[in-house]
Amino acid sequence: MWFEEQRFKKHWNDYIINTEKCKDYWIYPEIISLLHNLRRFIFILGPSPNSFYKIKKICNTYGLKMITVDDKFVIYKSDEDTSEFIEIFQSGKDDIKIGILLGYPKCCYKFYHKYFSKGIEVNPITTYKNSKKPFSFYLNNTQKLTSVISHFPCNYNCKKSIELSKKILSIIKELNGNEIYKELIDLLKNKSVFCKGLYFTFKEFNVPYPVNNDIAKCFGINNASKMSINENYIKSILPDGKIKIAKENFLLFDFE
Ligand SMILES: [Zn+2]
Repeated sequence: MWFEEQRFKKHWNDYIINTEKCKDYWIYPEIISLLHNLRRFIFILGPSPNSFYKIKKICNTYGLKMITVDDKFVIYKSDEDTSEFIEIFQSGKDDIKIGILLGYPKCCYKFYHKYFSKGIEVNPITTYKNSKKPFSFYLNNTQKLTSVISHFPCNYNCKKSIELSKKILSIIKELNGNEIYKELIDLLKNKSVFCKGLYFTFKEFNVPYPVNNDIAKCFGINNASKMSINENYIKSILPDGKIKIAKENFLLFDFE
């Protein structure tokens, strides 16, 4: 897990509050990829009891099955042959095979394997280091709330991953119309800052995140009591609007 537990819980709760408003499954890009035959299996990491209930309801409505493997919830269509997947997934060793069965692009599960086989954790920073700017917003996976793809792309311009993200987004557009589609694209285009082990996104749902003193220091501010990160704030620090990246302190994920 690449972000701090507490933060993850907060994100997951926000996710559920937002899905509360939805009558359908469109908010779950993973469920979309399953129902529209882009993937055979998906998994969701330990959802809260609330979201578990919602996901279960969606599964019942759309004829999907859900089983628990360790702390993961594996979901698939009821007519799917699961024997091979469950065995491999449970052993957790053959990450290449798992990547294939989960329907991830070849270049990406190979990239994952390169690190996984050496015992190195893969996260958005691993992708960051293998990417040239500008990053494609289709692959913005720094926020659980708005991520369309569920794997770690080999780089933030990976063609196969962009293709998958576009397909899912076009289904969302088809199901829900242009307005929601545009809203999602806007959210994906938000920049993210990785700082002190946490991710912050600018303007995400217009919810200002409280910032602690450690984070504020990265922006050259001593007192963070009422600060929230947004672009204007950064511009007020550096008049040209650019952030000087101090590698040890924070990384800017610049999605365009
Ligand atoms: Zn790739």
